[in-house]
Amino acid sequence: MANYWNKEIECMSREDMKKLQDERLVAQVKHVYENVPYYKNLMDKKGVTPDDIKSTDDLHKLPFLTKADLRDAYPYGLLAKPLSDCVRIQSTSGTTGKRVVAFYTQNDIDLWEDCCARAIVAVGGTNEDVCQVCYGYGLFTGGPGLNGGSHKVGCLTLPMSSGNTDRQIQFMRDLGSTIICCTPSYAAYIGETLKEMGLTPDDIKLKAGIFGAEPWTEEMRREIEKLLGLKAYDIYGLTETSGPGVAFECEEQTGMHINEDHFFAEIIDPETGEVLPEGSKGELVFTSLTKEAFPLLRYRTRDICVLSREKCSCGRTLIKMSKPMGRSDDMMIIRGVNVFPSQIETVLIGQGYAPNYLIEVDRVNNVDTFDINVEMSEEQFSDTVKEIQKKESELVEAIKTVLGINPKVHLVQPKSIARSEGKAVRVIDKRKLH
Ligand code: ADP
Ligand code: ZN
Repeated sequence: MANYWNKEIECMSREDMKKLQDERLVAQVKHVYENVPYYKNLMDKKGVTPDDIKSTDDLHKLPFLTKADLRDAYPYGLLAKPLSDCVRIQSTSGTTGKRVVAFYTQNDIDLWEDCCARAIVAVGGTNEDVCQVCYGYGLFTGGPGLNGGSHKVGCLTLPMSSGNTDRQIQFMRDLGSTIICCTPSYAAYIGETLKEMGLTPDDIKLKAGIFGAEPWTEEMRREIEKLLGLKAYDIYGLTETSGPGVAFECEEQTGMHINEDHFFAEIIDPETGEVLPEGSKGELVFTSLTKEAFPLLRYRTRDICVLSREKCSCGRTLIKMSKPMGRSDDMMIIRGVNVFPSQIETVLIGQGYAPNYLIEVDRVNNVDTFDINVEMSEEQFSDTVKEIQKKESELVEAIKTVLGINPKVHLVQPKSIARSEGKAVRVIDKRKLH
């Protein structure tokens, strides 16, 4: 039986949801136009006024915002409320460049934490649960967002932050944590550490994990489920729209429901900016319908995914987004071929390797080099050199079948690839440094 944090919204009829979104959008566009000169300018340039926006059907008339705009307008240029009404800032992780900051009123914080509460309840969380939050706390939104959601649900909240993995496991055992929230790469690291300590999933009580903030594959999901003996759920969000909880997975584990009463989603062609029909793969664009302090309209996330309104067995009617396969700027073009790290991760885990790998790309004499370092387990490491070479060739073949180009695969010693306590670094593209 599915549980909901806010059944009325999560299971609302399409018609009522559209009406709610339309009303909120009209008010939001007015709020932004009147209070954010930076965006008013963009609208004026496009010849659009708030009167032109009567419903979400008119959204396509509005200009986009990009990360470049946020950097341009840093720090206060997109603020829509006086600073005296703001109570918090958070900042992006800076994965793809200079960090940007987002502002929150108390109401913005409440709504954000509410979205995280929906995610926790969707994985079965109640006030009986012990929720261990090991996303980073501080400027990063992961820790504060899930922490707030966990309080709302009434879980006993362990504000661990990331790192100090032995202590994570000790608290998990001593206090009987039932829910864990962190990045999927950190979850895998905790699982690996547990095993090294000679413990098994039977020694801990985790039943559900809420993992997000970075791309991860279905293969990685199964790996983590096995390592920690729990069900692993995805959660998505970005600082620019609030933080985690923009979308969350339900018991079906087939994509994330978007909290579309707060965030209106569109999929566009990243080249032309044209809005694509439902079911198309493209760049996700969000309009925040309710944020007061930092209400971004048509923000281009650069995340690539697909939206679907297919009926979900959990009873929620909220539109679903597929797992983002990576950002458009995570995509590498190697020897003319598009490559996402997630494609390589799928092959590696499928062939029995742990998700510890590092891709290195460079350009030598005008030719792209493509190296993948893959860590061996202790057992694999005890093989003969000949055996290891054979395994490298097998991996090259398997990756070539998926990508159409040949990497160089290097099987490296156990523990030689740095573990991540936050967002994992999977690629070093040296071409960008030349
Ligand atoms: P940064 O953009 O600097 O990493 P954030 O910490 O705000 O800053 O991260 C938001 C980004 O993280 C998203 O735009 C997306 O690329 C990625 N992300 C968040 N959750 C997920 C998820 N569940 N799956 C894949 N990517 C995700
Ligand atoms: Zn569902």
